Amino acid sequence: MDSKISFDTLCARPGRADCPVQPHQLPLYATSSFAFQNLEEGMAVFDGQQHGYLYSRFGNPTTDQVASRIAALELHGSEATGMAYLTSSGMAAIATLAVGVLSPGAGILTQGNLYGGTTSLFRSVLQPLGFGLFHTDLGDEQRTEQMLEQHSSIKMIYLETPANPTLACYDIASLAAVAHRNDCSLAVDNTFATPYLQQPILLGADFVVHSTTKYLNGHGNSIAGAIIGRDTAIMKEKIFPKLKLLGTNCSPWEAWLLHNGLKTLALRMERHCQNAHRLAQWLDRQPQILRVNYPGLPTHSTHHIARQQMRDFGGMLSVELAGGSEAGRQFMDGLQLCSMAPTLGDVDTLVMHPATMSHRGLSAEERAAQGITDGLVRFSVGIEDVVDLQEDLAAALASL
Ligand SMILES: *Cc1c(COP(=O)(O)O)cnc(C)c1O
Repeated sequence: MDSKISFDTLCARPGRADCPVQPHQLPLYATSSFAFQNLEEGMAVFDGQQHGYLYSRFGNPTTDQVASRIAALELHGSEATGMAYLTSSGMAAIATLAVGVLSPGAGILTQGNLYGGTTSLFRSVLQPLGFGLFHTDLGDEQRTEQMLEQHSSIKMIYLETPANPTLACYDIASLAAVAHRNDCSLAVDNTFATPYLQQPILLGADFVVHSTTKYLNGHGNSIAGAIIGRDTAIMKEKIFPKLKLLGTNCSPWEAWLLHNGLKTLALRMERHCQNAHRLAQWLDRQPQILRVNYPGLPTHSTHHIARQQMRDFGGMLSVELAGGSEAGRQFMDGLQLCSMAPTLGDVDTLVMHPATMSHRGLSAEERAAQGITDGLVRFSVGIEDVVDLQEDLAAALASL
């Protein structure tokens, strides 16, 4: 069924759970454990001989329904098999994936411009535990291949595309080929694009992670994450035991909120993309702005990659103000309609100053190397009427 209907229909369909009555909408199973009819049934479920639920850290009908919906969206339109687990946050998804598929001693090769929390997780948690951490420009295929040849301990390429906050895009299909030639897996953080815009597993990636907190939920009311893998056996045998033992599982309430948001994913993404594209084109003509980073603009350095692997260009953009940090501060303070909040993907427009917010943990040199200047302001463009947004931005720019 899931493979025959369109992506938009799959988003909107109500979730079902096995139960004797037929609620039209997905029920919220707020229970820590599940009771058995008798000891025999309990033993069969414990042994895995009979499908059933035991304890919500191991699985819960609400959470499982939402996980399988996200897997279906990531794999939509293909015959690929695969599965997903929900986690308590995006960070939990990344950490569980890393410790699930890699052993201490194994290395991760990644780009410089990752989500700030991911860089910190790799550096302050995984590296001290003995995981190797390597950086290169993943846009340079030859150098990436050389890194893998020189360091045989690298077992995973970890990628974000479009990347935060300059929206640089990396070629998923060619990096998957490079990874597989070198006995590595490819994991992609698909938070910024969502499966509506980009399906990394269909392009060759082995794993996808999400902070579902962002676009997949879309309403800014729950923290959760997801791990999707193309190989069901690896998911069940390597990822699931770690998730269960670390307790990085998602709560049914957060999963239920996520499911509510998912229903309008296709509609929301369509409007996010339209609004962001219009604003990017308009911002590009304003004299107070030095540069607009939006993958949909033909002048963006990785526009060609975005065109090749994304259905549209997303709702995220950033601008570099001519007046540097001071102009950035004044501009943000001048905005009336946009909320200043360190998240993204909500229905309302959010604005953030990476140098003092998301990337304050990096040194000034590291920020400079990633193109994060003091005058850089990031927008998560919402689904409001774009005319209202443009007027708000125009008024704030006029105050500079
Ligand atoms: C927010 C975010 C994360 C972390 O997710 P949480 O849900 O906050 O734990 C990871 N990657 C990206 C790209 C993000 O935007």
